[in-house]
Amino acid sequence: MDRVIGIDLGTTNSCVAIVENDTPTVIPNRGGYKTTPSMVAITEAGKRLVGHIAKRQAITNAENTVFAAKRLIGRKWNSPQVKNAVLTSSYRIVEGPHGDVRVQLRTKPYSVPEISAMVLQEMKTIAQDYLGETVSKAVVTVPAYFNDNQRQATKDAGQIAGLDVIRIINEPTAASLAYGFGKNIEKIVAVYDLGGGTFDISILEIGGNGIFKVLATAGDTFLGGEDFDARIIDWFVQGFRDDHGIDLRQDRMALQRLKDAAEKAKCELSSVKETEVNLPFIISSGRNEALHLQRVISRQTLESLTEDLIERTVDICRQTLLDAKLGKEEVEDVVLVGGMTRMPRIQEVVSEFFEREPNRGVHPDEVVALGAAIQGAALVDEKHEMMLLDVTPHALGIMTQGGIFEEIIPANTSVPTGRSKIFTTSRENQTAVKILVMQGDHERAEDNELLGEFILTGLRRAPKGSVEIDVVFEINADGIVSVSAKDLETGQQQSIQVTATSGLTPEELKAMVAGAEEFAVDRKASEEVEAAIQEAETVIAEINRLFPQVEQIVASSDFGRDAIAKARAIVQRAKDAIQKKDLALIKEQTDGLVRTQRMFKGVVSKSS
Ligand code: AMP
Repeated sequence: MDRVIGIDLGTTNSCVAIVENDTPTVIPNRGGYKTTPSMVAITEAGKRLVGHIAKRQAITNAENTVFAAKRLIGRKWNSPQVKNAVLTSSYRIVEGPHGDVRVQLRTKPYSVPEISAMVLQEMKTIAQDYLGETVSKAVVTVPAYFNDNQRQATKDAGQIAGLDVIRIINEPTAASLAYGFGKNIEKIVAVYDLGGGTFDISILEIGGNGIFKVLATAGDTFLGGEDFDARIIDWFVQGFRDDHGIDLRQDRMALQRLKDAAEKAKCELSSVKETEVNLPFIISSGRNEALHLQRVISRQTLESLTEDLIERTVDICRQTLLDAKLGKEEVEDVVLVGGMTRMPRIQEVVSEFFEREPNRGVHPDEVVALGAAIQGAALVDEKHEMMLLDVTPHALGIMTQGGIFEEIIPANTSVPTGRSKIFTTSRENQTAVKILVMQGDHERAEDNELLGEFILTGLRRAPKGSVEIDVVFEINADGIVSVSAKDLETGQQQSIQVTATSGLTPEELKAMVAGAEEFAVDRKASEEVEAAIQEAETVIAEINRLFPQVEQIVASSDFGRDAIAKARAIVQRAKDAIQKKDLALIKEQTDGLVRTQRMFKGVVSKSS
């Protein structure tokens, strides 16, 4: 049976899990960490770095290090969120050929799914290293609030990474799966998820027989830990300007250092009341003198700087309860997800709002990946009986006369579902209507996301408003939307299956998949070479350590001098092979090195 990994593709960090022997388990990366930074960088030498190594060099390579790509995925170039990101990012965000978004790293513009694919590929490799087998299937999580285009773009990222994404599930739903796993409980729970870049709240009903039904969900894809960091950065920048009259923002490197320090301070303030940010030589005064940033920030300051952000999450919780038609007292448990929920003020506000202490039994960083792994196992193994009843996060409808959005399927409707509405022609003798299928929650159609369009032609000529058109929307279990329009009198019909677009054409996607596959092969080879070099160098170091002793012992005989000369030649040949990075040659020379080392050890031990 195929193994399915569960991946929480986070804005800041990602996590991969698997169900092993009926137990969901998080897979640690090579460094032993259970989460991996969702960061990608290209070095000056053109080398691709992902995860911790990308994060470590972010300060010195800020322009070519991408973080929080999730904020851009599936978005259009002219969206306000992208405009905002262009202004605030340390890396260059440029317009793609289809009104989509690209990230310019060194000389190449990368699509956002390509960047996310590099992170997914890393998570796949972590799982493969751990399992010792190839993994090709995954369940990937997305914020509940992602629209169809964002979901499709995430799926494309999976495909580029060589993964068959068998299901996309919502992060809070995944969290509730992990929370309810094996417990056989019947409860209404709220999942409050505040991560690095997004906020989600879902209210779910967990049925005793493995049924997880989402009652309502809402969120904000531009509200997360990074906004908290930004407030701290602003505070330091302002303070520094007051003290020195210098704007730290002019210097990318200074800003990146401050960014790191701000996030670190924020995390520290979850366990201590105050912390000092100390950044020596942060910038030059312009008079040939280096300036340092050294200032204490208190938990209280952090709380007052971010109170409105926390309040925004509460407003969304309030609205979601209304949507679920539930009172606070009906919520029986609150599950906290996402690194930001470690902040004490957030825990306080959430317990004040729900009037109960949040559940402390789940790990906020791991619960989403665990839930994804549970869903993955359930999809391929009937033993894990489970049913997920999710809802549409946004309303679906069409654009009508005057650019007004007419809702057909409201937000928070359980899927699968089907709804229809009757419309009439808006002009006299109108023979065709254009159906613009949209997703969103705004009254003005243009503020929503366009998912697709089609034209129903051949309408009979009649006075305005007298031709009735039945528009039917259907969403199947995989979340695929189809729309049809029918002239009720003539029976004339047109329909489309809405395929969301990630902003990539099929040809581009194909080329990227091929590129990533090539890279995957590349990477394995280079890892093998690195390992072989390391082995050879260890043996060389040991031989070098023994050389003086061996020389002293055997130099008096011709045979001994000959052996020493041979040993030197072997070491030299091994060094040449290392220089060439030729795997076969390195391995061959390592055999010789090992024989020499054994001989040296024998000589030394005999004479002692
Ligand atoms: P996630 O996307 O769930 O990995 O959450 C990452 C966010 O949580 C980042 O903004 C982190 O800075 C933040 N975070 C992680 N640990 C803490 C902590 N101890 N206190 C406050 N925020 C934290």
